[in-house]
Amino acid sequence: MIEVHDLHKHFGGFHAVDGASLRIAPGSITGLIGPNGAGKSTLFNVIAGVLPPTSGRVTMAGEDITGLPPHALFHKGLLRTFQIAHEFHSMTVLENLMMVPGGQAGESLWTTWVARGRIRREEAEIAARAHEVLEFLTIDHLADEKAANLSGGQKKLLELGRTMMVDAKIVFLDEVGAGVNRTLLNTIADAIQRLNAERGYTFVVIEHDMDFIGRICDPVICMAEGKVLAEGTLDEIKADERVIEAYLGT
Ligand code: ADP
Ligand code: MG
Repeated sequence: MIEVHDLHKHFGGFHAVDGASLRIAPGSITGLIGPNGAGKSTLFNVIAGVLPPTSGRVTMAGEDITGLPPHALFHKGLLRTFQIAHEFHSMTVLENLMMVPGGQAGESLWTTWVARGRIRREEAEIAARAHEVLEFLTIDHLADEKAANLSGGQKKLLELGRTMMVDAKIVFLDEVGAGVNRTLLNTIADAIQRLNAERGYTFVVIEHDMDFIGRICDPVICMAEGKVLAEGTLDEIKADERVIEAYLGT
């Protein structure tokens, strides 16, 4: 589904991504692990069009998508979750979902208002879809809650929910479990697995919680110092000398 060929992203003289190559199989839930500073988030940001690469190539189903902006990738079904931006905190959970079909979440408030005007006639259908998404994620009772009042884990579910408002094909989740309690982490894991099984979403998941990775991800890719070190099941990765060294070295 996604192929990354010899990707580099330099910040000045610093090589955050330093010749990474990998493939994401369609229909997989692929885990991306590695020590802090390995370049995982930077790799995501380059694939998702948030940062331009220094060099290298990214293809999606064989088509070159290198350097395409996030809104173009959004229309191709490639989504990266974003934290709920500050200006959306005063809106309800339902409203946060309803603005998604107008464009990639994280766009300016102005663009969102324009989009809202355009889609007003479809509002009832979009609200119905938003309620379906909330039911799927088991947070329908929070529909009228302000986003600001959600717990960390509930916000993560809302971020995931936004990808369900459009027909996503592949979703990139960066540290989906950070600061999330065990119960909600299980809910998030279930949602990811059901979206994968029932709607055919492909996922690439960065997460430090190895139980979470081991439970839902196959294969797992390990990065260190901007490069891909190893790929395999979590057990294979954990037994890999280079992976052990990379973790011990930090
Ligand atoms: P990870 O997500 O694996 O922890 P990151 O991709 O966030 O790693 O960061 C990789 C390295 O690149 C880190 O050393 C980080 O400090 C550096 N880095 C990330 N973004 C920038 C930036 N915008 N400017 C300069 N250095 C950056
Ligand atoms: Mg990171």
